[in-house]
Amino acid sequence: MNNETILPPTILTHRRTAYRPVTTEGDGELTASKFSGRPWLKADESWPTCPNCNTAQQLFVQLNLASLPPAEQTRLGDHGLLQLFYCTSSDPLCEVQCEAYFPFARSVMARRIDDPSAPANTAAQGPAEPLAARRIEGWEAIDDDVPGWEELYQMGDQLSPEEEEALDKAERPATGDKLGGWPAWVQGVEYPSCPQCDARMELVLQIDSEDNLPYMFGDMGAGHLTCCPNHPDVLTFAWACY
Ligand SMILES: [Zn+2]
Ligand SMILES: [Zn+2]
Repeated sequence: MNNETILPPTILTHRRTAYRPVTTEGDGELTASKFSGRPWLKADESWPTCPNCNTAQQLFVQLNLASLPPAEQTRLGDHGLLQLFYCTSSDPLCEVQCEAYFPFARSVMARRIDDPSAPANTAAQGPAEPLAARRIEGWEAIDDDVPGWEELYQMGDQLSPEEEEALDKAERPATGDKLGGWPAWVQGVEYPSCPQCDARMELVLQIDSEDNLPYMFGDMGAGHLTCCPNHPDVLTFAWACY
């Protein structure tokens, strides 16, 4: 049996390449791309804390833009770091108190570091129980990532029942952790808007429950790190679950 699913040409017009992180156990260098581990911090900066509970946030991900696939560098920049910090405190339960599933929550920080060659703080005190780190050693292309049916409908496409079935069978958009491509929305299309220009923010990284990061978003939800196309410094993270 041939398990390759041919997507209809109408859907393939929206094709984008997404990239799965290829990871290994353990932390990498300070400026490496990684899930959890030690983040690059400015020399005079302490480990970021959550304003709701005043304890250190977890580093969820750090991306070194210089090591991304060239097509993603064109989109996101070719130098510097993107970092996502998230409070996982259970007492108080900051995720709920701060509604961390919505974009721009207080207990979450997403930011861009322009110059990681500047002096760094390599000894900052992080969370008491850091999540297990995985360093990202490369990226594996998914050549045929396409939007989900809901997003296709929003873009004005009309799908036949056969086309919907093909999309479903192909398991597109791809779930799991991935850079770029199309978001696999859990609760419908939810792109955040930039607070500065109202533009639709674009997918940087999809972070799925218990993939590379040993963390569960609600009941097996998925999160999306997004960036404003006009304001490279405006980044945010939001997630949804079933
Ligand atoms: Zn907190
Ligand atoms: Zn903007």
